[in-house]
Amino acid sequence: MVSDTEECSEEKPLDFIRAKIKQDQASGKNDRRVHTRFPPEPNGYLHLGHAKSICLNFGIAKEFNGVCNLRLDDTNPTAEKTEYAEAIMKDVRWLGFDWEDRLFHASDYFEQFYEWAIQLIDKGKAYVCDLNFEEMRAHRGNLTEPGKASPCRNRSVEENLSLLEKMKKGEFPEGTKTLRAKIDMSSPNLNLRDPVLYRIIGQTHPKTGDHWKIYPSYDFAHGQSDSLEGITHSLCTLEFEHHRPLYDWFCQNLNIHHPQQIEFARLNLNYTVMSKRKMLRLVEEGHVRSWDDPRMPTLSGMRRRGFTARSIRNFCDRVGLAKRENVIEMELLEYCLRDDLNKQAVRRLGVLNPLKVTIDNYPEDHSDQVDAVNNPEDPEAGMRPISFSKQIFIDRNDFMEEPPKKYFRLAPGKEVRLKYAFYITCKQVIKDSQGEIVELICSYDRESRGGDTADGRKVKGTIQWVDAKSAISCRTHLYDRLFSVPNPDDGEEGKDFIDHLNPESLTIHEDALVEPSVQELSVGTGNPFQLERVGYFCIDPESDRKMGNARPES
Ligand code: ATP
Ligand code: MG
Repeated sequence: MVSDTEECSEEKPLDFIRAKIKQDQASGKNDRRVHTRFPPEPNGYLHLGHAKSICLNFGIAKEFNGVCNLRLDDTNPTAEKTEYAEAIMKDVRWLGFDWEDRLFHASDYFEQFYEWAIQLIDKGKAYVCDLNFEEMRAHRGNLTEPGKASPCRNRSVEENLSLLEKMKKGEFPEGTKTLRAKIDMSSPNLNLRDPVLYRIIGQTHPKTGDHWKIYPSYDFAHGQSDSLEGITHSLCTLEFEHHRPLYDWFCQNLNIHHPQQIEFARLNLNYTVMSKRKMLRLVEEGHVRSWDDPRMPTLSGMRRRGFTARSIRNFCDRVGLAKRENVIEMELLEYCLRDDLNKQAVRRLGVLNPLKVTIDNYPEDHSDQVDAVNNPEDPEAGMRPISFSKQIFIDRNDFMEEPPKKYFRLAPGKEVRLKYAFYITCKQVIKDSQGEIVELICSYDRESRGGDTADGRKVKGTIQWVDAKSAISCRTHLYDRLFSVPNPDDGEEGKDFIDHLNPESLTIHEDALVEPSVQELSVGTGNPFQLERVGYFCIDPESDRKMGNARPES
């Protein structure tokens, strides 16, 4: 049926990550094991960039007969929440991946990290520092100037051990002390200028509660977590390239399993932002309604908008892997979605801006059942009957009182085909006291059912419609891109990404009408449908208004 990522990956040349893994396997490294992990920090919802990392890590594990862990990198209780951790698990599963019994938390290893910190102190390779964060920054130097040693750098092992113990017990206020690795204050790599291993944070941790008053830095926890889990290949984004020497330093000095880190370029998409911090701002400042607002590039937002997991997996597969930063066009994502929906979405009729049409030569109290195709791309989807009667609604945008030449939709005196039903001709336009068109009087040709007429005449235009007796009313949300410029993030002088929000990213039609069978489509995701000539929709599980039967005339 639909070609899936798994089916086509065979023939493609290997990218640089798969080539390296293949080489490692061939050389017998790690006993030929392949073990990857997806390590999000639970400080926000997952976005499309994370999907790329998920597909890569779980995908590679599958392709190389290995396994992939899900690890929540929960080292900073100030920003992390259980809500985020739960959303992350839901999203990874939805995307189609399974970590089986391999759910881990960096906090599972807090005792071990602490022991390692003590080992480093014992070896004279770590010290407790009294500089606060500003002082530390000032001492750090920059790319052209070497850093300055902290006055605490030469503390004795005993003093360091005793101070760390006190830090752990909460005897010092937040921000007054850190534990730092003693590496090289003049290293050209700033990450090696005595990086922080532990800081004091007076926050309750979602998993470890108030047990710890100090928390490991991301750098001290990340590589060691990989090591403890026996990860063979730590795939991460380019910004961690300069951290690799530090992770290597930890592995060497602690003499522990050494995962191979390989960096790849982050996924960037135009017309959007791809950072949890920025998404948090969008939510907190009320520019969108929530993390799962359908305009957000979060997986939960995309799911709610009607994206299928498969379309996202295919997108990640097509984007491929790069070693340099690049920006992917939104069109590719939209194409992947349309390609998938076109094959599987059932078609329905609906009008967003209803305009009443009365068919003057159609009998009162009568109705016809016409057959509509459920999905032209899928013969097995079959047909459904839809009813037609004296009053119908068409979309206001399919009528023009004074049409230009070559206008093939409805206009006074003109004939048009109603999809799956009859030809109608507009005979009269009825307006209200303000001059607004409120109704059209048309006639229909009973012989034209299904598109054939006795005299063989053809009409060029086909429009959608709904039957007034049976249509149900609903509110529709039409979404457009969240930002109006390709690169909302470019840091243009005096501008913030918020300044580039698209004011028309959401258009609501309060009184749309759809054929009744829309109500039978299961609520929520996984069941997107197409309103013919309008677009793809899904029924929003969060909707606060149930669809109701319109029956405007009764
Ligand atoms: P953000 O910058 O949005 O806050 P992050 O990198 O801080 O994201 P993490 O939770 O640390 O988020 O990321 C988990 C994993 O997802 C990491 O391995 C990270 O490299 C990867 N990842 C995050 N963003 C992207 C992206 N845009 N493209 C590819 N991988 C990504
Ligand atoms: Mg981060």
